[in-house]
Amino acid sequence: MPSPRFDTYYRYAELTELLQDYAKNCADYFRLQSIGKSFEGRDIWVATITNFSTGPDTEKPALWLDGNIHSAELASSSACLYLIYTLLENKTSDPDIMRCLDTRAFYICPRVNPDGAELALADKPTILRSSTRTYPFDTPLSDGLLTEDIDGDGRILSMRISDPDGNWKISDDEPRLMVPREATEHGGHYYRLLPEGSITNYDGITIKLQAKSQNLDLNRNFPSQWRGEHEQLGAGPFPGSEPEVQSLVQFISEHNNICSGIAFHCYSGVLLRPFSYQKDEQFIPEDLWLYQKIGAKGTSLTNYPAVSTYHDFQYHPNEVITGSLDDWLYESLGAVAWTVELWSPQRQAGISNYKFIDWYREHPFEDDLKLLKWNDEALKGEGYVDWYPFQHPQLGHIELGGWNTLYSFWNPPGHLLQQELTRLPQWLVWHNLISPKLELYEADSLQIDKNVWRVRMVVKNTGWLSSYVTKQALAKKKIRGVVFNIALPDKAELKSGKQHIELQQLEGRAHKSTSPFGWAGASSDPTDERVKMEWIVYAPESGIVELTAKHERAGVVRCAVELE
Ligand SMILES: [Zn+2]
Repeated sequence: MPSPRFDTYYRYAELTELLQDYAKNCADYFRLQSIGKSFEGRDIWVATITNFSTGPDTEKPALWLDGNIHSAELASSSACLYLIYTLLENKTSDPDIMRCLDTRAFYICPRVNPDGAELALADKPTILRSSTRTYPFDTPLSDGLLTEDIDGDGRILSMRISDPDGNWKISDDEPRLMVPREATEHGGHYYRLLPEGSITNYDGITIKLQAKSQNLDLNRNFPSQWRGEHEQLGAGPFPGSEPEVQSLVQFISEHNNICSGIAFHCYSGVLLRPFSYQKDEQFIPEDLWLYQKIGAKGTSLTNYPAVSTYHDFQYHPNEVITGSLDDWLYESLGAVAWTVELWSPQRQAGISNYKFIDWYREHPFEDDLKLLKWNDEALKGEGYVDWYPFQHPQLGHIELGGWNTLYSFWNPPGHLLQQELTRLPQWLVWHNLISPKLELYEADSLQIDKNVWRVRMVVKNTGWLSSYVTKQALAKKKIRGVVFNIALPDKAELKSGKQHIELQQLEGRAHKSTSPFGWAGASSDPTDERVKMEWIVYAPESGIVELTAKHERAGVVRCAVELE
């Protein structure tokens, strides 16, 4: 069995080798397939993990997981690898994992966007939002400051440029830190702070930030409330236009057994749920209650708060996000979907209860001091670099320094990576175990007349979620009820009951009251997780009747009863 490393980030070739090693050495539990090619032609890998000896993945409820749709969010890929590692290491020792692999399946896509990740992992890194395809124009006008590692040390830091019109000055309390100049302050020594990079066509006076040539954001390209460039930047020319998104949409759409989905991102340390674009009041109430229960469990196991993207994770109060994977999974398919933002540098530094995105606009200087202390101690001084002189090709004498954000803010540095990942698998296994699961209650035959039999099959949903998973899935007409099928022996025929019939959905326990008080409806416990099907069979000879009950999300039950 391969033993992956969790103190480093894998480049594509190493990642591929690791996954192929698992496929070779652990074939009873792990299968690997390419679901499509990235823009640059790299395979997009999906691992299917289940105990194949208890049935194929397609006949079991499943959890979808993916990472690294955004180029520089490398730890999101590691989160997928860490789950793979945890499942396979404990497949015969941990009772929850054993039960989960016997009865459920995982589809794990560790790197949705291998092209962009490869640039972030290069010796001289380039940070793109996601795809490497040039967009929105084929021939970009490249003027201005392009963020890049200009001194070739593998880090992208900040440039500190002495400038009487600058907004920044050196802090009196901590000379490594910069603080904003007061509103009416003048006559001091000020600096301009800009991302490390070079300036194309510099005129010696004006510095503007260069629009990147590759402006796609694959997590705006999903076919859910998609909006074009005039309303939302980077969403692509049409929904699902990009090969990476197409591959995911096709695979997920072809796997109706997917009950839930989790997209890993970095950073913030938060479990984000739909909607991204509208208020909680727009939720079907039962689905919102479900999300709140699953989120509360997630918080208790991961220590990440669970919040609505719309209410708590907006980049600007007047702007919303659409076309994201989690919204598409919930809105179009009725799957329970999350965006999990890994890693909170602020919380690591002891800053609690901060507002995720607003914090960047405004926060007390004490927070910067806490972060610097955290850098000095936990990050061994490698997160925040003290200012050092550099001869810039366009700007002349400047200084480089500040946060090495790629491995402090965006991703944990290698030595803190595993500790961050360990908080996840328990919730992920729990999330898969709550899915609906069809099981046999009983099946029998009873002779009621000469050569006439009553054949009965009763199945039940043993999962916590209802067979349909969410009310949204019903509203979108995505999910059929339990479909029964009967196969008769030779010469036998059906006197009543259909050979192939759809019956109702099965409830789970998710919507039942948390206490036995209240009105009868909420606290009672009817057998609405069971469904019974009966046939009357005429059979002139003894034989075997084969019965099947199938639910797209809850799985398949097969059994046989004898007529004798
Ligand atoms: Zn992201």
